[in-house]
Amino acid sequence: MTESVAETVSREIHLKSRPVGMPTAENFELTTVTLPAPQAGQVVVRNLYLSVDPYMRGRMVDRKSYTPPFRLGEALTGGCVGQVVQANAGPLAVGDYVLGMQGWREYYLSDGKGLTRIDPTLAPLPAFLGIAGMPGLTAYVGLLDIGQVKAGETVFVSAAAGAVGATVCQIAKIKGCTVIGSAGADDKVAWLLNEAGVDAAFNYKKVDDLRAELAKHCPNGVDVYFDNVGGDHLEAALDRMNNYGRLVMCGMIAQYNATESTPAPRNLGLIVGKRLRMQGFIVSDHVARQPQFFADLREWIASGQLTWQETIYQGIEKSPQAFLSLFTGQNFGKMLVKVGPV
Ligand code: NDP
Repeated sequence: MTESVAETVSREIHLKSRPVGMPTAENFELTTVTLPAPQAGQVVVRNLYLSVDPYMRGRMVDRKSYTPPFRLGEALTGGCVGQVVQANAGPLAVGDYVLGMQGWREYYLSDGKGLTRIDPTLAPLPAFLGIAGMPGLTAYVGLLDIGQVKAGETVFVSAAAGAVGATVCQIAKIKGCTVIGSAGADDKVAWLLNEAGVDAAFNYKKVDDLRAELAKHCPNGVDVYFDNVGGDHLEAALDRMNNYGRLVMCGMIAQYNATESTPAPRNLGLIVGKRLRMQGFIVSDHVARQPQFFADLREWIASGQLTWQETIYQGIEKSPQAFLSLFTGQNFGKMLVKVGPV
């Protein structure tokens, strides 16, 4: 059905300059644009929530990678949940909720390609960008497929109170593992212990010797290390790995703002004698796992075995601040920006 259509004024965040080292607010620009009325088959979507993610830092650099760099002077893209507010004779109707990748803007025009209609009765809307979205699938695939975790094993997780890490911790508990988490704040540690149900957790910012701390919590060694951080966490894990252990290389946020190449772990040689397997992965290669992930997720949430946290900044203009805060650990669970009234 064709609804009444009109131009839409929207604000969006552009990448103004490429950051060197830690990004600053000056690398971003808030701009106002006017979207034309939708043509036949097009929709206008009002974003409700947008996701800011650590991987976006890599896309701010002009280099070849698994995903192309953001372009200067254009709105940044990324996961977003919105509602169709204008529709013109296409399959999507006014009122539909959709998951897209248009990211840092209030409204966008779309021909519907790449948009997934979502059912808001399945999960709260923000969850489609967190536990029931890309970070949730990352945790699931990383731990179960790449990590090949088994009941009775010990799993160590860094950035354990983040969107991916907190989900990894809880799935590992569901699978019958002993779980140790590292996080950068006392309230995150308390949540891991009291809500996520991990066996041990520590605040790495208060620890002088990460290796000794890990040894204290993992007397029987580590079978699977889920790495979100790299650097000294990776070195400490390598030291503590059991023979035939697996290192799931999900991310290395500790070096995303480095201005020079960072050295390899000094104890990388341990891989040989301990017969370790270290494997990187990118979640977008694993979308075929989504149906099974959703089935398990539904059951785990219904049975109260899985919980999550969100940190939500208000207003499109806060998107750069929300993104920058990922690198100082200001987020508790999934970091989101609420763009408009829901
Ligand atoms: P988080 O929600 O975990 O947020 C990032 C967290 O990283 C911060 O809250 C902070 O927590 C921690 N952190 C930041 N800087 C440092 C540092 N220098 N040293 C140690 N910890 C730090 O983000 P996500 O869950 O979205 O992502 C987690 C990791 O997974 C990232 O590395 C990301 O790039 C990666 N990823 C990989 C994917 C893939 O396909 N391979 C897909 C999605 C994410 P704290 O307070 O504990 O320091």
